[in-house]
Amino acid sequence: MCGAGPAGCVVAERAAQVLGWKVLVVDRRPHLAGNCYDSKHRSGVLIHNYGPHYFRTNDASLIRYLSRFTDWIPGNYIVKSLVGGQFYPFPINLHTLEQFFDLSLNAESAEQLLRTKRIACPAPRNSEDFVLSKVGRELYEAFYLNYTRKQWALHPRELDPGVCGRIPVRLNRDDRYVEHRFQIMPKRGFTALFSRMLRHRKVRVLLDCDFREIQSLVTPRRATLYTGAIDAYFDHRFGRLPYRSLDFQFERHDVEFKQPCVQINFPNDFAFTRSVEIKHVTGQKHPATVLSYETPRAGGEPFYPVPNAANQALYERYRALAEETTRRDRVYFCGRLAQYRYFNTDEVILEALQCFAKIKKECAVLRQSALSRR
Ligand code: UDP
Repeated sequence: MCGAGPAGCVVAERAAQVLGWKVLVVDRRPHLAGNCYDSKHRSGVLIHNYGPHYFRTNDASLIRYLSRFTDWIPGNYIVKSLVGGQFYPFPINLHTLEQFFDLSLNAESAEQLLRTKRIACPAPRNSEDFVLSKVGRELYEAFYLNYTRKQWALHPRELDPGVCGRIPVRLNRDDRYVEHRFQIMPKRGFTALFSRMLRHRKVRVLLDCDFREIQSLVTPRRATLYTGAIDAYFDHRFGRLPYRSLDFQFERHDVEFKQPCVQINFPNDFAFTRSVEIKHVTGQKHPATVLSYETPRAGGEPFYPVPNAANQALYERYRALAEETTRRDRVYFCGRLAQYRYFNTDEVILEALQCFAKIKKECAVLRQSALSRR
């Protein structure tokens, strides 16, 4: 088992709890929870060390599963974007449109206005076409173009429509960042949630250890889960898949809250893309607060796959190898880095549950055929 992020923790927990397997979880980093890792900053303020994780899902059964390991508090995911010196609600909604175009609008008149702005594109093939076809050029240039260039070091034209398509456009006054049915945060944080998941007498955790260091020392009896970068597993034999990374700068302030909301985006100014005051959503009471500034970078810890056709084609070559490896060696590939997909946390957990179901089924078949051979 490799990786103590969400995918690794879920499969480990299920394998121990449901199948009674002994599980070894190995992670290169010195902590659990992967990029969901949260911890106390030296000020005592709880921070998300690798960027904000706004937990949301439409899936009630997922909440039921996770509720075994955590209580919840409401998520209050509000984002504003600083454009031309003014803060705008983001994603774009009726308030944003009114403020941007200096008009009074309702859903109908906003729709009419956007009709005059949109640039028709029946089947957008990239993020630029997608946004232009939703809101037209002025809003695209104000809110999306430069943010996207900073975040990815690519033009929106070079990215799949789904990248900017993650952000809804609303003709109502709903100012939440996302629209999911459940928008909640683990009450004591993500690290506490995933630690609780691994607190099982059959699970051992080895941190600060690259799995390659112990690979020759451990012989998995039943299956291996790999959640690292897929190209690294195969020694980059077809070339490197690009991943985008971030630098975080944390800043303490001796006030209860510094920003009006959890996240402020800076599409057109500064090298950083956003400032995050996660205290708005962790529910922590503390006299101080911490802001984190995110500056995108190439290299470093891989955080995001870079979704476009060329990278997908390269990934497909690795995926074919991975499928062969699964069949031959029972090594399963799951998670953002191993599947090269821009998953959210809830999606990764669902993928991990599916992966576990597959492992369970395939191991049962193998056992059955071993028994019948006896
Ligand atoms: N995006 C943008 N302007 C913004 C926020 C996001 O153009 O103010 C685009 C950008 O390309 C970004 C993508 O939408 O990478 C997805 O944004 P999201 O906030 O979901 O990114 P994440 O939180 O996963 O980094």
